[in-house]
Amino acid sequence: MAEQHWVEVDGLVLPRPVAGHPALELVNTFSGWDGSHASDYLATYDHLAVLAGELDLLPAGDVQRLRRAAHRQPEAAAAALERACTVRAVIRGAALDPSDGEAVAALTVATRSAATGVQLVPGHPARWHVQGISPDDLDRPSDAFAWAAADLVTRPEVARVRSCPGLGCGWVFLDTSGRRRWCSMQWCGNRAKVRAHAARTRTRP
Ligand SMILES: [Zn+2]
Repeated sequence: MAEQHWVEVDGLVLPRPVAGHPALELVNTFSGWDGSHASDYLATYDHLAVLAGELDLLPAGDVQRLRRAAHRQPEAAAAALERACTVRAVIRGAALDPSDGEAVAALTVATRSAATGVQLVPGHPARWHVQGISPDDLDRPSDAFAWAAADLVTRPEVARVRSCPGLGCGWVFLDTSGRRRWCSMQWCGNRAKVRAHAARTRTRP
């Protein structure tokens, strides 16, 4: 059986990581960037915090603490979730087209807020521990994602960011081989093959 494109973590359904970079995995919490079959994995603040923890952007203890804080302040959690959705779109724009000055400027603004409390951890190039002004600052997950995105966008590898052309997809990933076209051959690649085959069969006399 084909692999699902989601995983269950802590009882929450999250997208399976396929992007090759944590900032891009946030983008992939939404599918249907082409305007069709939209679906959003960021159902609650818990999803956002757990995803940041899963991707090693926040320590596990901090994720639990943020989730408790979010349950105490549902309105602030809803606002933080909305901000994360904005950051998600900003990251997608800047990563897919770093020559788009407006998109990069929007990411720069998001990074500034993340930088107020960043803590560098020597020896952990793949981890960003963003310490908010308060440890319960609900924007910490989106700050961590923005910080990770700033790292990606300022590296030459950003030229390898591609978006999946699958119908109702638009997931992004780092094309390290130079030949990757789909988020996953098993999902969008196969569906496209099946559609192309059906179209050929229909046009036969
Ligand atoms: Zn796809």
